[in-house]
Amino acid sequence: MMVKSGYVAIVGRPNAGKSTLLNAILKSEFSIVTPKEQTTRDSIFGIYTVEKGQMVFIDTPGIHTFRKEKINQFMMQEVLSALENADLVWYLVESTSSYEKECLALDFLSLAKKPIFLIINKSDKKKSLSKDCDLIFQKSSAKRRYFISALYGEGMKDLLEDAFQEMPEGSPLYTNHDEISDRPVRFFVGEKIREQIYMHCQEEIPYSSAIEVRTFRETAQMIYIESIIYVERESQKGIVIGEKAKKIKQIGQEARIKLEAFLGCKVFLDLKVKVLKRWSEREDYLRKMGYHAQRKSKLLDRWIQENAGNERKM
Ligand code: GDP
Ligand code: MG
Repeated sequence: MMVKSGYVAIVGRPNAGKSTLLNAILKSEFSIVTPKEQTTRDSIFGIYTVEKGQMVFIDTPGIHTFRKEKINQFMMQEVLSALENADLVWYLVESTSSYEKECLALDFLSLAKKPIFLIINKSDKKKSLSKDCDLIFQKSSAKRRYFISALYGEGMKDLLEDAFQEMPEGSPLYTNHDEISDRPVRFFVGEKIREQIYMHCQEEIPYSSAIEVRTFRETAQMIYIESIIYVERESQKGIVIGEKAKKIKQIGQEARIKLEAFLGCKVFLDLKVKVLKRWSEREDYLRKMGYHAQRKSKLLDRWIQENAGNERKM
């Protein structure tokens, strides 16, 4: 039997529920989810293999205005290259969103010219059907629309079935059936730690921190992990450590519990906090943290050209 296989880019504004949806499909705590915006920084491939074939989902950072920091440009580049590589785009919209809020995302979609499904998420919320739903549907040129709740796993069956219809025929892109990601374990370790910073720290701290996993050593009894949390300023370091090192202990403890569940064994987690001034603005530091674009997106160059001087978007 001929099977189908291809790429599905999951895009949308911050907090639309993209990572929650991917986790629901893969039935794993795979991509980190927090109530804060801009949790996902780089695109993550999630591999979904069934008898019919394989869909590789690309979870992406939320589409938001370009700010001057390199980390933001990197995040938007990740979105655009996911669009470029996709056979199908799942455009996620929060059910309480509005046309105005979606304008930038709609711009991105029109650049990509790919088949689109509009997915209205968080349909479990009361009074949720946004009045702009029809307008967003029309402007996105989506082929179909779906109402789902990623959090409760509702409405996903049709979505998956219809998505398979859109995939090109061909053998699976990834053949190791146990794999659900293209990322190494170290990447997920860093993400689990970053998730706890989002959960425990307020305001700008999550956006100013990055994780380096220095050591990942397996012994017979456990895994030893040494990791550095980088922040941008001395004052932020104090906040992350907290009074009598309470906060960092809490972050470490909860990250360790998550890591033990994820890795399936005992973990010793050694966390340190360091200041790396303005890391989010410097390309060399971003590279060190693993935020380097795998490929340069042609769409990004075009978008920047078309919108140069447009203060609202840039
Ligand atoms: P992303 O930024 O698009 O990846 O969004 P996340 O997946 O990180 O989700 C952002 C927040 O929305 C989290 O607090 C989720 O628990 C919540 N969320 C996601 N999907 C749903 C949903 O279907 N219903 C409700 N009520 N909340 C959701
Ligand atoms: Mg996300």
